[in-house]
Amino acid sequence: MPPCIYCKTENFEKFKGVEHVIPQAFGKFGAKTPTLKCVCDDCNTFFMKELDQVLARETLEGVTRYKKGIYSREARPQTKLKFSLAESPEIGDFHGAMIAVDGTTGKLMSPPAQYKILNKLTGKYEIYLEHQLKDLKVTDEVYGKPGEREIGIIAPSSEALDTFIKKLNETGIPYKEKERYQPPFVKAMERMPDDGVSTLEVTVDGKIDDPVKRAVVKILFNFATYNLGPAETLKNEWDAARSFIRFTGKTLMGRVSQKPFWDGQETETMRFLDDSYNLRIENQNGNVVGVLQFYNLFTYEFILVEGYQIPPEHEIAYRFTPGKEPIIGRKMTKLEYLKMQLPE
Ligand SMILES: [Zn+2]
Repeated sequence: MPPCIYCKTENFEKFKGVEHVIPQAFGKFGAKTPTLKCVCDDCNTFFMKELDQVLARETLEGVTRYKKGIYSREARPQTKLKFSLAESPEIGDFHGAMIAVDGTTGKLMSPPAQYKILNKLTGKYEIYLEHQLKDLKVTDEVYGKPGEREIGIIAPSSEALDTFIKKLNETGIPYKEKERYQPPFVKAMERMPDDGVSTLEVTVDGKIDDPVKRAVVKILFNFATYNLGPAETLKNEWDAARSFIRFTGKTLMGRVSQKPFWDGQETETMRFLDDSYNLRIENQNGNVVGVLQFYNLFTYEFILVEGYQIPPEHEIAYRFTPGKEPIIGRKMTKLEYLKMQLPE
């Protein structure tokens, strides 16, 4: 039995669980759901808490799975990913309001009570939740003179509104009844038909930070191990990737783009259905590179091993669609591809 591919432990008492190559939150792939036995329980638990949940709840990929009918077990609001209502006629004065998505239904949750104020310097509305009010200094230079400020309060109910105004008074944040005032948000939500709510235009603001990158690289490392075998990824050459994923080592070089995943078969305007996850391990410019794309969103490319090659016959690409068995992709030369397009 090989040691753990991440921490290299040989304590074989600690290999009770299996690691899913693609986190379970993103679904299963028939009888061919890829799993690994060579990840120890400590690493497995660590990944579940620190990386998988971030990817599943706090990324565009993660919330897109709700749109595809794959839900989470908990409803708790996102903390790193920010959703705000985009400017549109049906939203009126509520644009900029911070909202969250209920992971168990994929629907918008009623927004927390929030203070909205126009920053005259940036021309943008700023949103402050109750716990952020203490950081807000309303100065004339930034927000305009009293009476000229554009201020609004958004609250899910009239009780929440009263509580929030009390809090504003305590904190000394300027707010007067005669200043522009917005009625509780919930009334506007009630006026919208049920299915109308889900069609509201929302601005999503997130950051692809190290936890997100580590979650992505872990999937690629798992995928490489699943296809090349642990004997390959246990080699020292793979240590930089291993250390970044498991021990916050140096961030791997990579890039995020919106380029098509299936080179030569997809273009900017023609893509395969956006219902799948695409993964690839290949040699590129003298390095081993992993490429991942979920739901036709971002294409993440990371150098997994620098200055190293895998045998060309081990380069591999797969397309995973939840509920179906994975489909294998084959690397073709341009000539082979063109020949395939020609009629016999
Ligand atoms: Zn381990």
